[in-house]
Amino acid sequence: MFETLSDRLTSVFSSLRSKGRLSDADIDATTREIRIALLEADVALPVVKAFVAQVKERARGAEVSQALNPAQQVVKIVNDELIEILGGETRRLRFAKTAPTVVMLAGLQGAGKTTLAGKLARWLREQGHAPMLVAADLQRPNAVQQLQVVGERAQVAVYAPEPGSGVGDPVEVSRRSIDEARRLNHDIVIIDTAGRLGIDQEMMKQAADIRDAVRPDETLFVVDAMIGQDAVTTAQAFMEGVGFDGVVLTKLDGDARGGAALSVRHITGRPIMFASTGEKLEDFDAFHPDRMASRILD
Ligand code: GDP
Repeated sequence: MFETLSDRLTSVFSSLRSKGRLSDADIDATTREIRIALLEADVALPVVKAFVAQVKERARGAEVSQALNPAQQVVKIVNDELIEILGGETRRLRFAKTAPTVVMLAGLQGAGKTTLAGKLARWLREQGHAPMLVAADLQRPNAVQQLQVVGERAQVAVYAPEPGSGVGDPVEVSRRSIDEARRLNHDIVIIDTAGRLGIDQEMMKQAADIRDAVRPDETLFVVDAMIGQDAVTTAQAFMEGVGFDGVVLTKLDGDARGGAALSVRHITGRPIMFASTGEKLEDFDAFHPDRMASRILD
């Protein structure tokens, strides 16, 4: 994860190690290198600019420190700014005052939504919750069955229209699932909506209709981190079309660069809440900006 970016930043810092004090020229050269490292990592330009400006300002204003040498000071500043750009604090899931808490998942097809639904459900079950997965992707053949398989592996209930029941409307299925969750004492409902390969108005409208019908406590935008900066464009389209409260990054295990992770919070103003790091159900956790920053600078 983020190996390319880590390597680049490490080499930027190592060139500072011999310095006793940083001149303005040193700071300019260092921030220029950081800028290149971020651009190579496919971080969105406005984010790169904001990041570099902040590092430069803080490096110039840094007091001569007894405890940290100049190289360590720059590492600390970059670490702090990485935490900031990744969202600062960990943003936890908000639970509804009255159960069930409704979580709706939105994102492109292939983003890893269905897998994520299972991971989140398992994670919540392990914390003592009783989640229910809802199959609201009725477009893609096999999507319902795929969710059922995921639900079985995660050992959580799945609500899906009975074959031949005539209920083919994802809005209706989502609405009914809330009543069913109440009836069966599930405290969390996770709705897996349909995605398409590209941004598509019909898909957006359907997700917005489901949102209006169930009024989710949390709408999570699920995005494949490996698409880098394209994640930002997709996120903006979903923000306009559906709106969301938080982001889930998937496939971080295959992402050497980190462009999506470092851009999406700043551009959308929404926190990254969860991270998916593999195909197995256990490869999942809440997203912690400080841990992620340490990993990048490790
Ligand atoms: P959906 O179309 O958004 O529901 O996406 P799926 O859940 O079907 O996932 C698409 C593919 O990505 C599947 O082959 C998953 O096994 C794979 N996948 C999902 N999450 C991850 C992840 O975090 N890491 C890796 N390496 N693969 C993942």
